[in-house]
Amino acid sequence: MTAAMYELMDYDEVLEKYDPVMGLEVHVELATETKMFSASSAHFGADPNTNVDPTSLGLPGALPVVNAKGVEWAIKIGLALNCSIAESSRFARKNYFYPDQPKNYQISQYDEPIAYDGYLDVVLDDGTPWRIEIERAHMEEDTGKLTHLGGADGRITGATASLVDCNRAGVPLIEIVTKPIEGAGERAPEVARAYVTALRELVKALGVSDARMDQGSMRVDSNLSLRPVGTTEFGTRTETKNINSLKSVEQAVRFEMQRQAYCLENGEEIVQETRHYQETDGSTSKGRPKETSADYRYFNDPDLPPVIAPREWVEEIRATLPELPWVRRARIQEEWKLSDAEMRDLVNAGALELIIATVEEGTTPDEARAWWVSYLSQKANQAGVELEGVGVSPTQVARVVALVNEGKLTNKLARQAIDGVLAGEGDVDEVIKARGLEVVRDDGAIEKAVDEALAANPDIVEKYRAGNHKVTGAIVGAVMKATRGKADPAQVNKLIAEKLA
Ligand code: ADP
Ligand code: MG
Repeated sequence: MTAAMYELMDYDEVLEKYDPVMGLEVHVELATETKMFSASSAHFGADPNTNVDPTSLGLPGALPVVNAKGVEWAIKIGLALNCSIAESSRFARKNYFYPDQPKNYQISQYDEPIAYDGYLDVVLDDGTPWRIEIERAHMEEDTGKLTHLGGADGRITGATASLVDCNRAGVPLIEIVTKPIEGAGERAPEVARAYVTALRELVKALGVSDARMDQGSMRVDSNLSLRPVGTTEFGTRTETKNINSLKSVEQAVRFEMQRQAYCLENGEEIVQETRHYQETDGSTSKGRPKETSADYRYFNDPDLPPVIAPREWVEEIRATLPELPWVRRARIQEEWKLSDAEMRDLVNAGALELIIATVEEGTTPDEARAWWVSYLSQKANQAGVELEGVGVSPTQVARVVALVNEGKLTNKLARQAIDGVLAGEGDVDEVIKARGLEVVRDDGAIEKAVDEALAANPDIVEKYRAGNHKVTGAIVGAVMKATRGKADPAQVNKLIAEKLA
C-alpha cells in the first residue's frame, strides 16, 4: 500500500462550507430455517458448499418457491418501520455476472417492494429525537461468498486464486433503504450510527435476524453527498459498501464528508462510484463506477407469482409485534425507578434482559441488578465472554437470592454457590450440597463456637461490658472461622449480645 491516496478537509471547515445529505441501505439476513427460494439450510457456519441445492446453484430447470416465513418476516419488519405493506408485490431479476452468483441474476424486488413509506424514530446520544424516513424495505436473496487467496488484505487485488462458497446464495435478505437524510449537519455521522443501532436492536427484538454485523448478517451501505451550505439541490453521492460495525458506519460518513469537501474545494469533481471502507485507518477507497438501475435490465421474474399479502394476514402479523426495545427500556426504567446513569450501566453491561428474566423468577429488580451488574459482569470480564454467555442462568441467580432471603445462605456463601455453577459443578442446589455450603442453623454448634470465642478473648469481653459494643468483630470472625463461614452473622451477633447482656 502506498501512502494515503486522499486528502481531507478539517471537519469544522467542512461544516462551514457544506451540508451533508445521507442515504443508508441496510441489508438484514433473515434467520429463517431455509433459503428464500429453496429448501436448503440458511444457517451460518456450515462447511463450504454443503447448504446448496439445484435452485441456489442455478442448475438448469430448477425453479424457485417462495419461503412464506421470509415474506411474513419482511412484513413484520415493514410494520415495525411504520411502512405501508403492499397487497401485491413482485419479484424481479437483477441481471449481472459475478462468480458468487451462479444464476447470473439476483432475485430482488424493484418497482414493487413489499413495504414502503415508513419511518423509524431514533434517539441521539444527548437525547435528541430524530426521525429517519424509510423509502422502502424489499425482499431479495443473498449471494454466495468469495474468498480471495494470496493477496495482502483478503481483497481480489493481488489475489492468486478465489474460492466460491454458495452456502449463502439464496439466504433471505431484507434491504431497508432510507429517504435522503437532510439537515443533520455536523451530527450526520452520529445520526447514521444511531439509526443503524436502532435498526439492529429492532430486528433482533422482532426475532427475525441475529443482526451480527461481524458475521455479515447485517451490512450497511452508506451514501453521502455534499452541497454548498444554503443550497437545496443534491450533490453527487458516493456509496461506501458493506460496512460491518457501528463505529465504522459513523467513521465512513465522517470520512466521506471530509474527503469530498477537500475534492470539491480543489475543483475535483465527485464521481458517482462505490467505495470500500478500510477498517485499518477508517478511510474509504475507490471501488467501481456506479451503474444505474437500467444497467441491470430488471424485469419481473417469470418463475415467481406476485406476492399477495391479504389485509387480515397483515393485521395478524401486526398483532405479534413486540413492544419496541426503546419503549420497553423507558417503561422499565420508570418502573424500577432507575437513574439514567444506572440504566445506561445496565444496558451497556448487556444485563437488561437477564435482569428482567431474573425478576420474572421472583427477585426484586435491585437484587437481580446487584448480581448481574457487579458480581457476574466481573466474572464475565475475567472470562472474556459476554454477560449472556457467562454460564449462569437467571433461574440460578433467582435461586441463590431466595436462599439468602430465607437465611439459608449468607451473601458470601451465595457467591461461592454461584462460583460452583460457573465452574460447571451443577445447579445451585447441587453445588450447595456438594460443597456443603448451607448456613449452620444448629444453635448448639453456633452457641458452642460463640462460648469458645468469648472465652478466648477476655479483653474484648471486658471492653464490651465497659460499653464499647463495636468490638464484636473479632468474636464474629472467630465463630465464622470455627464454622467454616457457614454461620449466619446476624444470628451470631444476636447470640453475643444475649450472652454479654
Ligand atoms: P442504489 O440502487 O444506488 O443502491 P438506492 O435507491 O437503493 O440506490 O439507494 C440510494 C440511497 O442513497 C437511498 O438511501 C437514497 O435516499 C440515498 N440518496 C439518493 N441520492 C442521494 C444523494 N444525492 N446524496 C445522498 N444520498 C442520496
Ligand atoms: Mg440499493
